[in-house]
Amino acid sequence: MAELELTRGKIQDTMKAVRFHEFGGPEVLSYETVPVPQIRPGEALVRVKAASINHVDLLVEEGRLFSIQLPHIPGADVAGVVERISGAGSDEGIIGKGVVAYPVLACFHCRNCVSGNHNVCLSYRYLGRDVNGSYAEYVAVPAKNLVQMPPNMSFQEAASIPVAFLTAFHMIMRKAKVQRDETVLVLGAGGGIGVASIQMAMIAGANVIAAASAEEKLKKCYALGADYTIDYSKKDLVEEVMDITGGRGVDVVIDPIGSATFSKSLASLAKNGRLVVCGITSGSQAAFNIRDVYVHQREILGTITGTMPDFLEVIRLAAERKLRPVIDSIYPLSGAAEAQKRLLSRKSFGKIVLSA
Ligand SMILES: [Zn+2]
Repeated sequence: MAELELTRGKIQDTMKAVRFHEFGGPEVLSYETVPVPQIRPGEALVRVKAASINHVDLLVEEGRLFSIQLPHIPGADVAGVVERISGAGSDEGIIGKGVVAYPVLACFHCRNCVSGNHNVCLSYRYLGRDVNGSYAEYVAVPAKNLVQMPPNMSFQEAASIPVAFLTAFHMIMRKAKVQRDETVLVLGAGGGIGVASIQMAMIAGANVIAAASAEEKLKKCYALGADYTIDYSKKDLVEEVMDITGGRGVDVVIDPIGSATFSKSLASLAKNGRLVVCGITSGSQAAFNIRDVYVHQREILGTITGTMPDFLEVIRLAAERKLRPVIDSIYPLSGAAEAQKRLLSRKSFGKIVLSA
């Protein structure tokens, strides 16, 4: 029996997409005409209105950490319109709606998924890494990953939310369990995760110290609501943190940077402090003194993305205007390589978006 398939209107057979045929930096990206993805039962075809750039896209392109089938379309963040759904029992009401996608392609039935921990799914897959992603005019996404966009929000803003705010929410609310009046140090504060973490720490009622490597970015962090800022290209991070906290240290450090900051992040913690690591933009190796961890009863917490319930919370917060996507710049899909170069230049503040 043929599977039910519902389509909103005529869809072309081909689309524009950004793919790579070999591994490397942004220069391997190529703007091409490719077939529109075929969807399988349970999937939806989303017409991409905006996609945002994440560091993971660059790791995918490098090809060192993940096994990627070539050619490949990157992109984990998408906001768009549902054009087609497939499979009996699909929610017909979602056709034509503006949606964002939970980027974790969880199985939803392993023991971790069943207990609500989709970001540690035993067969964890990721949009734009394990399947083709959103640097395209259309992307196929499991229908159960789609959530209606917050109202009164542009597609560009909506596409800036999923990976950054989901990761920030999981780190601050679920892992570090930040409490009111605690102090949170956010490193890489001008990045997508950094900007989201500042906002999420404020929602938790914490005091926020934003640290970045340019005065210009720090002014923007201050405008976002950070209580203190540190330019760690000019000043010693740990000394500044101790100055601000009266020698106590911070309760939580959010560190998406990795090698370059890990030991300083650890040294910035108060007793019982929690260091949350979520990325390796400067490299993945670090050496540290184990005694510095246990003597002060500190914790090192690893996180990756967040769970589906976390994602729903993030979208609710966005709908209530409690969080605010911050867009650095918008490029056309054909400008994906330039957009990624801007991310690598470290001059951006907030999210870089590809727009249809
Ligand atoms: Zn699972």
